[in-house]
Amino acid sequence: MRLLSSSLAPLALIAALAVSAPATAQEAPAAPAPAAATSAVSPQGQPKLIVAVSVDQFSADLFAQYREHFTKGFTRLLQGAVFASGFQSHAATETCPGHSTLLTGVHPSRTGITANSWFMPGIGRAEKEVYCVEDETNPKSTPDKPVVSAAHLKAPTLGDLMKKRNPKTINAAVSAKDRAAVMMSGHDTDAVYWIGPKGFTTFENRKITKAVEAENAVMARRVAAGDGALPVPGWCGNVDRATPIKDFTIGTYRFPLAAGDFNAYSNGPRIDTATAEMAVRMVDELGMGKDAVPDVLSVSFSATDKVGHAFGTEGVEMCIQMNVLDEALATLFDALDARGIDYEVVLSADHGGFDAPERQKLRGNPDAARIDPALSAKELAAAVSQETGITVKNGPLFYGAGEAGSVWFSAELTPDQKQKVMAALVARLKTNPQIAAVYTQDQIMQWPEPKGNPQDWTMEQKVRASFVPGRSGEVQMLTVRGVVPGKPAPFKVASHGSPWDYDRRVPMLFWRKGMVGFEQPTPVETVDIAPTLAATVGLTAPAGTWDGRCLDIDAGEADSCRR
Ligand SMILES: [Zn+2]
Repeated sequence: MRLLSSSLAPLALIAALAVSAPATAQEAPAAPAPAAATSAVSPQGQPKLIVAVSVDQFSADLFAQYREHFTKGFTRLLQGAVFASGFQSHAATETCPGHSTLLTGVHPSRTGITANSWFMPGIGRAEKEVYCVEDETNPKSTPDKPVVSAAHLKAPTLGDLMKKRNPKTINAAVSAKDRAAVMMSGHDTDAVYWIGPKGFTTFENRKITKAVEAENAVMARRVAAGDGALPVPGWCGNVDRATPIKDFTIGTYRFPLAAGDFNAYSNGPRIDTATAEMAVRMVDELGMGKDAVPDVLSVSFSATDKVGHAFGTEGVEMCIQMNVLDEALATLFDALDARGIDYEVVLSADHGGFDAPERQKLRGNPDAARIDPALSAKELAAAVSQETGITVKNGPLFYGAGEAGSVWFSAELTPDQKQKVMAALVARLKTNPQIAAVYTQDQIMQWPEPKGNPQDWTMEQKVRASFVPGRSGEVQMLTVRGVVPGKPAPFKVASHGSPWDYDRRVPMLFWRKGMVGFEQPTPVETVDIAPTLAATVGLTAPAGTWDGRCLDIDAGEADSCRR
């Protein structure tokens, strides 16, 4: 960090040299002096490989709760640049928008990825919903079984820009989730893999490789054999206790694997292990990190999110998951070390998360609640239709609503009808005590793109940062703090997606061998990641390319943002 003004720099440099001189002289006479304030990107030069890690639903709260217990892969990251308060600054805190910010450096209002899925009421097919990485123009595609494409992503990723600079850059990604892998790698990619019905798979027009076949064979053997419960680390402590929810409980599950149950394997902690292994196989198969042209490997670990949704964030299940994640990170980093690759890591998350409200209520948070069923599209549409006397022939009056936080109106409505329906809907929403704010597209588009400390953003600023006219719903509805969408069911008790900081705040950790680490509690944004990494590989981009700013991750007088 450049904490001193330039006029003080020489003094500080002299002091640093004086302090380190005796040790240097005795133990390693030939060692170079500490980096001078005027040094380039890094005393080591550019890294050969950028490893961009996303841990899905890894909130700053989980990081704070578990960081003291990490002893494996996380250890090195905790010795790097630790930004404990990173922000997915926008309101729509879902997987696809969150992953879209990580390596593009722009908010979802510019990536075009406003949600995991949105509605196109005028689209000429039965399903009006469109998935964020689907090619809905392909007649074979449905939101549930999408033909996967990056076409909806409107901004280039870091990998795209590096490949444009030099086509020898290798840009690859892996995740259990298609949307995570696609959003982090972008448009110009060498290999992108995600978990399909039987194992890792890729785009329809690409073939899976020997590395994929090998990892899929390993997974198939493990699934066929089955497995017992996963170990509970001693440090889990008192999270290992049952919490009743209706007619079932959470807080005691240990992920036994029934022989042949690929679904259980791919939706639990074990899939993070496979993701790390697949990442290593990709490094070998593609020859990443070998030549002077830096490569980008994006790895999104999905299990933390899957465990969070299934069991909430504060039970033994999440503790077990944190341990498996720590091990998976070690699998990845140890393999890169063994290959002698000079790599730079960033680890962050697509969004945070919130615990099951039933458990929150038992633990000093009486305001946590399930969303009011009256806020579902079905119930709202029935009430608004009755009130206005307006109906449509096909489908509902509008789509989305409470669970989506966004409302798309039927294409059958005339402009006059739409105005009446919208007015009635907005008035109705404003009377519901679970609704914190309601905005229409016309209001939202009058607001400027937000800037400044993301912790202080208003609700309007958060909404603006993930709004795209024509794609986002024309009415945005935001629930009050602590409202969880969805009815509880076994393996489905908690979620995210709110504009509140438990869903927005994520850690941002940077590490490279030999760097001097530091802790920085001041809020930063995930859109800062792309310009920060770009600077370390000497990539420049025209002003306005990024919404974020370069963070100086050199703790000394050198500035990793200044070349
Ligand atoms: Zn999720």
